[in-house]
Amino acid sequence: MSEPVYVKYCPLCGAENPHQAAFCARCLDGDLTTVPAEVRREAPPELAVVPEPAAPAPARCTLVLIEDPGVTFRVAEGQTVGRTRKADVLLAGVPKLEWISGAHARFFRRGPQWFVQHIAVTNFIKVDGDTFRGDEEVALHDGSVLVLSLTAFRVKLEGV
Ligand SMILES: [Zn+2]
Repeated sequence: MSEPVYVKYCPLCGAENPHQAAFCARCLDGDLTTVPAEVRREAPPELAVVPEPAAPAPARCTLVLIEDPGVTFRVAEGQTVGRTRKADVLLAGVPKLEWISGAHARFFRRGPQWFVQHIAVTNFIKVDGDTFRGDEEVALHDGSVLVLSLTAFRVKLEGV
């Protein structure tokens, strides 16, 4: 707790003045010589700021095989995709599957933003043309092109 601050409030305009003031520094008319000093009042609370409603987060991430858009894989938040049961979502039947790691990439969301992360020791991912061999978290957008080694997918982010 800090020491209380003693001030005088102008009887004419209400301005706060130092406790030793004889007249009001704001309106110059207020006579403070007969005004008792008092403990400074709390500043009025700031008007509550109503936060903007957060943009709805796309709830669903779908990988659409570019070579055959009829082949799609639904990926839930936090899930991994890959060639074997090490992954949550098996990319069975896609071309060049042999080049995809057992568990190759992980998908997750932070707020409304989806990310993909390469989680394999070998191989790589490409997102919109940029190659990632480490475990960087790469932002995804609706329509992003994601390549797992040699297999390309269109990323669809939709739903709320
Ligand atoms: Zn005043």
